[in-house]
Amino acid sequence: YDDRDGQIWMDGKLVPWRDANVHILTHALHYASAVFEGERCYNGTIFKGREHSERLIRSGALLDMPLPYTADEIDAAKALVLEANGMRDAYVRVVAWRGAGEDMGVASARNPLRMAVAAWEWGAYYGDAKTSGAKLDIAKWRRPSPDTIPCKAKAAGLYMICTMSKHAAAAKGCSDAMMLDYRGYVAEATGANIFFVKDGEVHTPLPDCFLDGITRQTVIGLLHEKGIRVHERHIKPEELEGFEQCWLTGTAAEVTPVGQIGEDFRFEVGALTRDIAETYEKLVRS
Ligand code: PMP
Repeated sequence: YDDRDGQIWMDGKLVPWRDANVHILTHALHYASAVFEGERCYNGTIFKGREHSERLIRSGALLDMPLPYTADEIDAAKALVLEANGMRDAYVRVVAWRGAGEDMGVASARNPLRMAVAAWEWGAYYGDAKTSGAKLDIAKWRRPSPDTIPCKAKAAGLYMICTMSKHAAAAKGCSDAMMLDYRGYVAEATGANIFFVKDGEVHTPLPDCFLDGITRQTVIGLLHEKGIRVHERHIKPEELEGFEQCWLTGTAAEVTPVGQIGEDFRFEVGALTRDIAETYEKLVRS
């Protein structure tokens, strides 16, 4: 994927896709000193682009990495990349990291803070499951507690357990894994938040130790507009038995129905799931 045409924004200027490289002694590669964003551009406009830029800045601050760019500058970099690549519908990845420098150990303050923006076409994150319903494994790894790690940051280091969980899920023929939190409550999937439906009301885990996704917040707003009650609360895995529908939300995932979790829990791709998926689709393109 590194050998192709296109332009990537790096540290303030556009560079050819093939030349967007970093040194092997990049601090982030060794110690995960990196934060990132995943965004989608629809019809030439990034959905909630400003919120993503602001979250990137907050993630950096949480990791003691004060980014040398304002939200306006990050927004401008994203716009430049989309324009330079002639893209109106794309996935946009912004990443900021500690580069190579004098600090070869764990400390990194003397190394430069760097940033890059790339965009590419990325269709349905879960492929056909977008319509038929995804099957989720139940992950062995749990979301860590807020006093173990800055769990509200979209930080590279937090994705190690997500990657391992997703690999384990794929080996079982699943689209993704549902992760529990450190207490054993239902948390989220490896790159998306989770919702359940029961008796016409919606239940979703309280995001007290994982990302309160921008899509999650958008979907809760849509549910409120439709007059549907949303319970943000701690959900025990055994409660899955009583839920009728389930879906995932995320920038890449958009709204994806879930048909099955583990071997025991099955859900219908029901009317509310379809309605929310369609309403979200309309909103991002409006
Ligand atoms: N949780 C995790 C672990 C994620 O990677 C993502 C995707 N950024 C989400 C939730 C959903 O966040 P958003 O809706 O802001 O994309």
